Parts: sequence; structure tokens; C-alpha cells
Amino acid sequence: MKSLSYLCLLIVMPINFLPAQTKVIAHRGHYIDVDGSAENSITSLRKAQELNIYGSEFDVWMTYDGVLVINHDDLIEGIKIEDAPYDKIKDIRLQNGEVLPTLEAYLRQGKQDKNTMLVLELKPHSTKEREDRAVAAIVKMVEELGVKDQTEYISFSLNICKELVRLSQQARVAYLNGDIAPKELKDMNITGISYNLGALRRNMHWIEEAKKLGMTVNVWTLYNEADMKEMIEAGVDFITAGNAPLAKKILNEM
Ligand code: MG
Repeated sequence: MKSLSYLCLLIVMPINFLPAQTKVIAHRGHYIDVDGSAENSITSLRKAQELNIYGSEFDVWMTYDGVLVINHDDLIEGIKIEDAPYDKIKDIRLQNGEVLPTLEAYLRQGKQDKNTMLVLELKPHSTKEREDRAVAAIVKMVEELGVKDQTEYISFSLNICKELVRLSQQARVAYLNGDIAPKELKDMNITGISYNLGALRRNMHWIEEAKKLGMTVNVWTLYNEADMKEMIEAGVDFITAGNAPLAKKILNEM
């Protein structure tokens, strides 16, 4: 009986020692060289869903009157989103002709494919009050639409990360700014680091450190094969890729 247990151990152990497979997240959706797509459009999310990858990332701002919209920059057509009423920007078209998406429309598209994680980046707003208000509205919407298990959060704002942790139990929240060691973030109940390539290269020991603490490691934004291979070999959990199909291909070949 004892020898049988040892045999089982021997069979199981090598599997446990295999490193976890790195997963791919499409940066601002899938839109580069994709007909009819544009960054942060509903189409870019749909195209990412078709890639069968881990997730799709997108950027969120809140208008002055509390409507959450998807856009990378703080300005759209010269209008500062957080100072504008929604009415003033609601008809603005993206490069693919789509109207500026609301978070609600975006999450509804997200729900269409439960297998693609929604990696929601809330942009730092100009005051703590605005950030807190945006976090509360997002957490409420995510819960009401039933996409809590499918949503992960990232932000450059430490205040936003802490507020997400406070308001959304068991939320996966990663900090983006590249300047804080994993342990310090863990102490704030933040669950991951999502650092740019340069920041991570300067502190490669943070990858191991984060993993030992049970945190996730994401690196952004990777476009070429050499960087992707380097980070996969370094053992990151996620690659946020500008070229998600390439990242997927490399992983399949490794
Ligand atoms: Mg982003």
C-alpha cells in the first residue's frame, strides 16, 4: 500500500512542477490589422472573443454626470470626458464608425462569451471623489449585469485599486504603475501586479516574489516575438499583447 502511494506521488509530482501556462490578453481588444475594428470598440471585444484567448482589456472613464464610457485618452475630440456631460460626447464615432461605447454596452457584449475575461482598466480621474464614485458605479453595474466572475480590474491609481478591493469582495485587482513591490500591494489586499516590460525587467525578482505571495503577474504591452518569449520564459501569468494572435501562436509553439 505504501509503495503504491509512492508510485502515485511520482506520477503526480512532475505535473505539479510544470510551470503554469502563460495566458494572453488582447490590449484594447483585437483591432490591429483587423477590418472594421478599432481600439476599445465593441467590435474589438467581439474580435478578441473570437480569438479564444484568456481576456480582453479596455479603458474606462466616467463623464461628469456619471456615465461610464470606453476610451483610452482623457480627451475625445478635444473634450475632456470627466468634465463633460454624457450628452456632449454620446454621438461621437470611433474610427470604425461605431458610436462611443458605454461600459454597459461593452459588458453586455462581454456576457455573450463567458470564456473571455473582461480586463477593466479604470483610468485615474482628477480627484479621489471622482475615482470613488466611478468605482462604486462600476462595481454595482458589474454585479447587476452578472459579470462579476468574468471581470478583473487594473488601474494606475492606487486609490482606485484600494477602493475596488474595499467595495468588491474577492475582486481580482492589479496595480499598473510599476513602482511598488508585490509584498506592499499584498498588504493592501491587491491581488496582482500588471507592470510594463521596462518596469518588470528592472525588477525581475518581483515575478517570483508575487507568485510566492499568491499574486498574479501580468506584463504589458508586448508586440514582438522576442519580448513575448522572454516574458513567457520568465514565468509571467499573463501577457497583454498588442498582437494577441502572435502571442497565442508563440505559446502554442513553445
Ligand atoms: Mg489600458
